[in-house]
Amino acid sequence: MYQPHLALKGVLVVDNVSTGPSIGGLRMATDASAVECFRLARAMTLKNAMAGLPHGGGKSVLCADPQMDPKKKELLVRAFAHALRNETDYIFGPDMGTNENCMAWIKDEIGRSVGLPLGLGGIPLDEIGATGYGLYHAIEVAMEYCDFDLDGARLVVQGFGAVGSHVSRFLSQKGVILVGVGDSKATIHDPNGIDVEELSRIKAGGGSVSDYPRGNKLESEALIDLDCDIWVPAARPDILHKDNVHRLKAKLVAQGANIPLTADAEQYLHAKGVLNLPDFVANAGGVICAAVEYRGGSQATAMEEIRDKINANVRTMLEEAKRKNVLPREAALGLARHRVMTAMALKRWGIF
Ligand code: NAD
Repeated sequence: MYQPHLALKGVLVVDNVSTGPSIGGLRMATDASAVECFRLARAMTLKNAMAGLPHGGGKSVLCADPQMDPKKKELLVRAFAHALRNETDYIFGPDMGTNENCMAWIKDEIGRSVGLPLGLGGIPLDEIGATGYGLYHAIEVAMEYCDFDLDGARLVVQGFGAVGSHVSRFLSQKGVILVGVGDSKATIHDPNGIDVEELSRIKAGGGSVSDYPRGNKLESEALIDLDCDIWVPAARPDILHKDNVHRLKAKLVAQGANIPLTADAEQYLHAKGVLNLPDFVANAGGVICAAVEYRGGSQATAMEEIRDKINANVRTMLEEAKRKNVLPREAALGLARHRVMTAMALKRWGIF
C-alpha cells in the first residue's frame, strides 16, 4: 500500500489463521521488504503453533526510519493501523522499531493490538523482557546438551534492544559474562565483562553501545569474530550466512531475532557440532506473553507460561533432533507443521 501524501509504505502478510486470528509484530525499518514480511509471517505461524497458542501467524512492516520525529512516527503508525482496520484476522504486536506506545496508538485507532503499556491494562512485554526471559530458559535447557556451564560462560549479543538487553540481564544473573555486544552503530568487546545494567541505562537514555565507557570499540561486523560460548543474534535477519558463518567461534547459538541465520549457515553450524536453537522455538516468549494478554491473563501467568512452554518445547525439540539425527530446526518444524495441519484438517482446508 502506498499513500503519497503521508509517504506511508507498508506491508501486511497474514500467513495462516487455522488456529485463530494471527498475531505478529509490526516492524519499522527503512530496508524492510515484502519478502522479509512474508518470511516473518510464516515464522509466526510456526512459532504460534509450536507454542500451542490459539493464534495463526501474520506480520506487518512499515518501511520507515524508527528513529524519526516521534510526532511523525505516531502519525504514520496510526495511519497504517487505520488502513488495516478491516483486516480483523491480524492482531498487531510490537517488533523491531515499535514498542508499547505504538501498540497504544493502534489500540486507540482500531482497538486491535497486544503488548500494551501497563497503564492500559496490557502486559508490557518489552519492558519486562518476555522474549529475553524465554530465550534465557531455552539456553538453560540447552546446557544439558552442551559441554560448558552457564556460570562463567562468555556471551556475545547482536542488538541490545528489547530482546538483547533482557536476555543479557537474565543470563548475567546466572553468572554468564557479556563479553561482546553490537548495535547498528558499533561493537564493543571486553573479555573482562560488560556491565549489563550500565549499558541498559546508556541505551535507555538514547545512547549507542559505542557510548559505553570501557572495552574496545570495533566495527559492527567484528561481532562475529569474538571468542565466546554463546552467541545471540537479536537484531536483523540473515546476519549469519554462508560467507561469514565460518568465522563464528561460539558453541551455542540462541536465535533471539527472527530468521537471523540462512539455511546454509544453520547446516554449516550443525556439521561443526554447534548447537543452534531456532528462532520460532527460542524466541516465542513475546508472543506467548501477548497471547496471555489477549485472553486477559496476568503478567505472572505470562511469565510462568513462557518458562513452562519454552522449557518443554526446547527439550522435546532437542530430544527429537538427537533421536532422528536431524537439525533442531527440522525436528521443531515437524512438530509445528503437524499442529498446523491438524488444525487445518479439522477445518477441511488445503495443504500448509
Ligand atoms: P529493538 O528495536 O528493541 O532492538 C533492536 C536492536 O538491534 C537495537 O539495539 C538496534 O540498534 C540493533 N540493530 C539494528 N540493526 C542492526 C544491525 N544491522 N546490526 C546490529 N545491530 C542492529 O528490537 P527487538 O524487539 O529487540 O527485536 C530484535 C529482534 O528480535 C528482531 O528480529 C525481532 O523480530 C525479534 N523478536 C523480538 C521479539 C520481542 O518480543 N521484542 C520477539 C521475538 C522476536
